[in-house]
Amino acid sequence: VMNFSAGPSMLPEAVLKKAADEMLDYNGSGQSVMEMSHRSKTYQAIIDECESLLREVMNIPDNYEVLFLQGGASTQFAMLPLNLATKSGSADFVLTGQWAKKAFSECKKLANAHEVASSADKTFTYIPELDPSTFDKNADYFHICMNNTIYGTKYVELPDTGDVPLVADVSSCILSEPIDVSKFGVLYAGAQKNMGPAGLTVVIIRKDLIGEPKEGTPTMLTYKTHAENGSMYNTPPTYAIYICKLVLEWIKNDIGGLEKMKERNERKANMLYDFLDSSKMFKGTVEKKYRSLMNIPFVTGNEELDAKFVKEAAAAGFVNLKGHRTVGGMRASIYNAMPEEGVKALVDFMKDFEAKNA
Ligand code: PLP
Repeated sequence: VMNFSAGPSMLPEAVLKKAADEMLDYNGSGQSVMEMSHRSKTYQAIIDECESLLREVMNIPDNYEVLFLQGGASTQFAMLPLNLATKSGSADFVLTGQWAKKAFSECKKLANAHEVASSADKTFTYIPELDPSTFDKNADYFHICMNNTIYGTKYVELPDTGDVPLVADVSSCILSEPIDVSKFGVLYAGAQKNMGPAGLTVVIIRKDLIGEPKEGTPTMLTYKTHAENGSMYNTPPTYAIYICKLVLEWIKNDIGGLEKMKERNERKANMLYDFLDSSKMFKGTVEKKYRSLMNIPFVTGNEELDAKFVKEAAAAGFVNLKGHRTVGGMRASIYNAMPEEGVKALVDFMKDFEAKNA
């Protein structure tokens, strides 16, 4: 099947094959990576290589720490205020969808969270224009969700937050195109879309932001704990990190890096957007300027027809096309691992469905 799931999502076939080959005996160790002590030399080499590949592929400057954590992107919604909101105790938020809202509400429990702008008025179908004069100059951080998985929008321009560290949830766009890490204080992502399996959360944090957390912060929710222990204060998600390493090897060697990945993702997204713009039945739901490369929501305007489409598509092998339960319609998530042929086949299927149901 072609899997259009929003996450966990497809992994590159080459990665799965390599993992299968190495499943019973990793590199002559006689063990599966799953069975290995995280304190062993063999495993240390895997996590080191994963970090070094991520640094190379994303061009991460030396003054940033890379942390391999657990708890999903959702745990970062709390770790950020606990660790960063320690001076003024305030953070600015742009509300562009469910995930941005969740980050905001979680911060509210622990610090003073301020809403700078929101696109809730039009069901989050655009990214709001931001006026820097409305930003809190004393905020401890400024939070955005770079790519909004549910609504299918992405930032085309970063807010100018001056000296206030910009923090971005990049769960659904990390590794999809080059990103200038130096513009951010923190980047964080759940791995289950573009990096590997669920269970791993990657945090890329500027070293000077790793300080003392708020009083009473649990050890495991303290960035310093993980930074000082090479992400090995406790047992890290060992197998997920290993798969992430294989994904990074695939991006570097098979794809040729993030510039190439971006070109490939643009070809894929344009195939689907061009069809949506020409179709009389299917319509994209997002303002063109803010269209995501990764998540493409669309509707027919008729709920029964939407349901028929989702059902027939699944029967034809195009699975997980149902839109998020809060928005309805359809959504095609076309992350890095989705091949160009997968999107082409979907567009052909949509053309055929339109012709039969016009
Ligand atoms: N942020 C974004 C943009 C997401 O798409 C998701 C999950 O889909 C999350 C956060 C939540 O991630 P997790 O399930 O890893 O906590």
